[in-house]
Amino acid sequence: MNCLLRLALSLLLVLPLIACNEEEIIQNLKSERASLQARVDSLNAQIASAEALVRNVRVIRDTVRAGEGPFHLFTRLKAQVSHGEEDLGRVYAAMQDSVEFKLRVGEIFYVSVDSTNRVQRFRYAPNPITVHLVSKTDTGFVYKLVEKPVVKKQSVYEGALEEGSTLNGILFKVGIPGRMVGIVSGVLQCKVAFPLARAGDRFRVLLEDSYYQDSIWVGGKVIYAEFDGRIVGHHEAFRYEDEDPKSSYNAHYTEAGDALVFDGLRYPLEHLRITSSFGSRIHPITGQRKVHYGVDYGAPAGTVVHAVAEGNVTVSGYDDLSGNKIAIKHRDNSVSWYMHLQSRGVAVGAKVSPGQAIGRVGSTGRSTGPHLHFGFKDANGAWINPLSKTMIATPKLEGARLARLKKQVAEIRKQIELTQAAPAVKANDTTDVMVHMRVVE
Ligand SMILES: [Zn+2]
Repeated sequence: MNCLLRLALSLLLVLPLIACNEEEIIQNLKSERASLQARVDSLNAQIASAEALVRNVRVIRDTVRAGEGPFHLFTRLKAQVSHGEEDLGRVYAAMQDSVEFKLRVGEIFYVSVDSTNRVQRFRYAPNPITVHLVSKTDTGFVYKLVEKPVVKKQSVYEGALEEGSTLNGILFKVGIPGRMVGIVSGVLQCKVAFPLARAGDRFRVLLEDSYYQDSIWVGGKVIYAEFDGRIVGHHEAFRYEDEDPKSSYNAHYTEAGDALVFDGLRYPLEHLRITSSFGSRIHPITGQRKVHYGVDYGAPAGTVVHAVAEGNVTVSGYDDLSGNKIAIKHRDNSVSWYMHLQSRGVAVGAKVSPGQAIGRVGSTGRSTGPHLHFGFKDANGAWINPLSKTMIATPKLEGARLARLKKQVAEIRKQIELTQAAPAVKANDTTDVMVHMRVVE
């Protein structure tokens, strides 16, 4: 009895509460409906006005052709709209301080015009994430930069060379963009003698890719590359960045600050035929021992001679022994020498680029026939075997830059650790390369 009474009492108390709640809910729903209705009305109005605009707008598109600059493109666009000279002149003026036109063949420009064929809007998108918009407003043409959000992903790829495989081959198979594969092998090549790499040698790379809309690849960086070989040893490359994104120091370095810029030497002649190599030899007639401080390449008189690396011409002259001779001092203070030339094409003080033509093969000075005597002095001025010189060393990072590198190395090691904490999956079916991936922003 007591129990039933209690139940009845509690029901009496609860029922009005339910009724009260429901009324409140209904009120809330009604006001929500009203605000949604207002939103729908406003959207309808916006759609109607946008539709009216679209009905009257025509879009003109034009494509950049080979050898064209902004001038050509604007000239063509001006001819297609009314008041083109005036309107497109203003469009250009509105963005000239903000936009750098580096036109590529196939890029598309859009101009929308109203029913009177006057320009309303100009659109230039140099890549999927950057859009330069110039729109007509009541106060004239206004420039706006629209940058679409980009997602950055870091991936660590790790694996080992297999019998008969190369690092390049494996990275290509995995589907890493060719430009990045080139960077990985380019920086490692400075330290790793790849012909001595063996099956089982391990590698690891950290890449950072940027994507638009989660799937459109817009760019990538090689942040880290590592190779650990039985014969070639352990080598690491770190991506260093100055504050200035255009700094020439932005490159890959070892942890100690040695730049890993592959700067292999070019050949002085297009076809190489060694007629006399470097070192000591006994003269066939006199029997005297003589040292040959260079390599002789046989070539017809008049064959073009090329600078083997970038440098400054320190000698361009003649003597009775060497004939016409040229010396080029390189960045690492080594000097390449070219002798017995028929003619010289560069003067002392000239800056030459790798592969630049500097003269022609001849037989001037003490020479029995047309050939190029090619020599190399190291930074201390000693003659070395030119065939042993394969690259020009790059300078080291020092002082504040070296300190900055150390910080970035620590940061990169942390990024590798974080990325490797993500689960490993097989990069694809054709290799055993594993990849860990994480979104960084
Ligand atoms: Zn010689």
